[in-house]
Amino acid sequence: MGTSSIIVYVPPTLFSIVSLAFLLLWHLKIISDWQWSAGFAQTAAGFVLSTFSIEPSFDAFSSGLIFIGAAYCYGSGLLTHFGAPRMRRGRCLFVVAYTLVLAYVVFVQQSLVYQLFLTDAAFAFLLGTAVLTVARRASRPVDIALVAASAVVVLDSVARTTFFTFFTTSSDSLSDFADSAYNLAVHVTTITVCMFFPFTALGAIASAAIERHREDAERDPLTGLLNRRGFDKVLENRPCTEAVPGAAMVCDIDHFKRINDCYGHSVGDKVIVAIANDFERAVGPAGYVARIGGEEFAAFIPGATLQEASVLANMLRISFGAREWADVGISNGVTVSIGVSDVTFEDRALEYALLRADGALYSAKSAGRNAVVAKAAPTATTPHQHDGQRDQLRSTA
Ligand code: GH3
Ligand code: MG
Ligand code: MG
Repeated sequence: MGTSSIIVYVPPTLFSIVSLAFLLLWHLKIISDWQWSAGFAQTAAGFVLSTFSIEPSFDAFSSGLIFIGAAYCYGSGLLTHFGAPRMRRGRCLFVVAYTLVLAYVVFVQQSLVYQLFLTDAAFAFLLGTAVLTVARRASRPVDIALVAASAVVVLDSVARTTFFTFFTTSSDSLSDFADSAYNLAVHVTTITVCMFFPFTALGAIASAAIERHREDAERDPLTGLLNRRGFDKVLENRPCTEAVPGAAMVCDIDHFKRINDCYGHSVGDKVIVAIANDFERAVGPAGYVARIGGEEFAAFIPGATLQEASVLANMLRISFGAREWADVGISNGVTVSIGVSDVTFEDRALEYALLRADGALYSAKSAGRNAVVAKAAPTATTPHQHDGQRDQLRSTA
């Protein structure tokens, strides 16, 4: 064994634990990326190899490949995490070129100094390119910490290789690596500054996965709209700054069961997606639209009056009714009924306005469908009388 101290066991143990943690997250499908686990496993293996020597040339060549493999995996993990282009071809070509030069340095030149310089420089380049590519994309504190920790790992490689290549005179024999000051420096810097890297990676990847799962739980997968839970969440504690709180709408496709029965469920799905898109476009970016049931949708339009919302609902009804469905195989037109109500400062929650809009929808259905019915709130008061209620508008359903 080379560096005769307990510290030689620390990096491989810690990196193995982190690798297993990432493997577990991947296995449980909490994260989709296996590269992190592979990268940390390779780093652990590289440290094991540097401690338990087999044959100098074999050790030098295989540990070089292992560390560059780790840099490739970390780079892939970073690029994927931040949604940046993977640059697979360019990075693979770089690894192939590195491997050829490494083989020459190890088996022909048999130079330890050049082998260490080459591996550190290639590691720093591969990981550094990924860090520079993603740096501007990090906005959450945990992501900024990950970029900073990755940059520290790159700088550590650059500083170490510069110091040992240009400012020290050490043995150039491959067999002297285990006992070298370089090997000790790798362990010390890894245990101190570089250990932030795996833990910030774990934090950033796990918190992104949790956020993604939370978002999925609040979205309808078919239409991409908010579901009922997401609708409630978004409107919860929403500050009400408009002079008029707004208007609520509930929309339901007419005789939708017939569409399913005649043309099949998948055609029914296409109709649902179509009205979802139309509804979202009609309400615009300032409003909120959700799919609250099978073919039922709700919307809240901040600042809209009952009349404005009714006009908008009618335009949506008419344009949807005029849609051509030949491309999905439906021969007749498809219509919707919409109930509208204004949201007042007396409404302690949006739910009250939605209930009125639902009552109006029921009236539209009873009146023969393909209709918009507006139902005004029972009383109307001036905004300044209800400053407390203006502060927030909640949906409690
Ligand atoms: P009405 O005019 O009174 O609304 O009549 P309707 O036939 O539309 O009645 P209703 O609104 O009760 O129909 C809801 C149907 O929507 C029943 C269910 O089979 C269907 N449905 C619910 N979710 C989905 C879905 O995700 N895809 C499809 N294709 N159909 C769905
Ligand atoms: Mg219906
Ligand atoms: Mg329905």
